[in-house]
Amino acid sequence: MDQNSGIHYRNPVTDPTAAAEIRRALEDPMPQPEPPTDDVVELACGLTLDGQVVRTARVRELTGADEEAISRAALSSAPEAFVSTLLERGTAFIGDRPATQDLLNQLVVGDRDILLLGIRKATYGDKLTYELTCQGCKQKLGVTVGLEEIPITKSPEPGVTEFVVSLRRGVTAQVRMIRGKDQNEVVAATRDKDLTVAEADTLLLARTVISLTGPTGNVRPVAGHPTAESAMREMGLADRAAILDELRTRRVGPDEEGVPITCAGCGHEQKVQVTLAALFRWN
Ligand SMILES: [Zn+2]
Repeated sequence: MDQNSGIHYRNPVTDPTAAAEIRRALEDPMPQPEPPTDDVVELACGLTLDGQVVRTARVRELTGADEEAISRAALSSAPEAFVSTLLERGTAFIGDRPATQDLLNQLVVGDRDILLLGIRKATYGDKLTYELTCQGCKQKLGVTVGLEEIPITKSPEPGVTEFVVSLRRGVTAQVRMIRGKDQNEVVAATRDKDLTVAEADTLLLARTVISLTGPTGNVRPVAGHPTAESAMREMGLADRAAILDELRTRRVGPDEEGVPITCAGCGHEQKVQVTLAALFRWN
């Protein structure tokens, strides 16, 4: 045996020290297998299910079979179908419940983004490698971004997705944060029907405004009601803007600003957007 290797085999039958060590090891309690912690992600808002606030989800590594299913969804050329399939394939549990399509659809948009980051981490690890051109000196930069570096905005009230917005003339609106399903439907309709921003806003409001309460306390249901869209069209511009602003303000999840990268050559700082294609190496 190579004396310099530092590895010395000791036969436990002939070496009393080794035998004692083995006995001691056997007397120690069996180490419990570590529960996998990598695949647990903390949601920025979470859900309230049967009165319980659920703040964690479990993601898993994607396999070749998942990749096939996801690429099949990508063929439909609808990004929202692609993301939904990715989430269904890569999310195992929300709280202690199996992550069904229905539960995933109930998550606010920012929590779905957090799951995407978690699935990416479980599949390819935390590091993203980019090549970009420095805006300062025009040199090509190879940069590595850790997904952990992306700032996450968390909800001050976990599990709470509804809020009240005061509108003009003593009216209040009961509103809920934008869920995955809302985003999917609005994105699909905007594309398929070529909606303008104002038209898409009407659709988003019709889905997120639960009800309007007048100054005398009369309640008008909105979301899910046949007149939801016309109610949002009748609403004054200032009131619509107030609700849309509040939806934006309450947005949680990964920061969309991007991760700041400083060029080693010239010191110029620019922000790198973490795109879905970059996350999953699909270009
Ligand atoms: Zn530079």
